[in-house]
Amino acid sequence: MNAEETLAQVAQEVAVCTRCELHRSRKNSVPGEGPAHSEIMLIGEGPGFHENEQGRPFVGAAGKFLEELLAGAGLKRSDVWIGNVVKCRPPGNRDPQPEELAACDAYLERQIQAINPKIIITLGRFSMGKYLSGAKISAVHGQMRRVGDRFVIPMFHPAAALHQPKYKPQLLEDFARLPKLLDQARSALAQPAPNPPEDTPDEDPKQLTLF
Ligand code: URA
Ligand code: SF4
Repeated sequence: MNAEETLAQVAQEVAVCTRCELHRSRKNSVPGEGPAHSEIMLIGEGPGFHENEQGRPFVGAAGKFLEELLAGAGLKRSDVWIGNVVKCRPPGNRDPQPEELAACDAYLERQIQAINPKIIITLGRFSMGKYLSGAKISAVHGQMRRVGDRFVIPMFHPAAALHQPKYKPQLLEDFARLPKLLDQARSALAQPAPNPPEDTPDEDPKQLTLF
């Protein structure tokens, strides 16, 4: 299956998924959208009211601000893939629960493997938790780090800036640095893979003399 086919298949599966309680209250699942070969994937939390109505990610107020943030990085919405850690709306926009995150993660993993982005931007603490568990977003936001074959940049959730204006300049700054970080990610990933960490203990030199 190519990337487009995998994404379409995942979208079909989440439309009828009953793997967690969130399926009970959904109107439309929101699989995510964007080019199948995006270099950048943005991962939010979960559908809100408007997303549940339309079946599309980030189409409400947070989405409008996200488009502004992308513009600050010289990007359009259609340049990136946008999705969420849970594909169905938590009732009343409550936090997604650990078992819901766990149930839905396999879909996101298949999407990530298919798209194979250079950079994953996590928006808010739930998608950050997938890569940097225990990190404090106020301490690490905007910092890019390598995770396997790609890079992860944790950022504040755009909705946070709508509720608390102090986050707005930080988000604008972090997005403005994105072109530079993308260049860095591209050149790092064009190099041969770094050596895997040494995980086998050194052989006993006394034993080597036996051969
Ligand atoms: N907030 C999110 O985290 N995701 C959306 O899709 C919309 C708002
Ligand atoms: Fe399935 Fe994910 Fe929706 Fe839960 S949130 S019902 S796991 S698609």
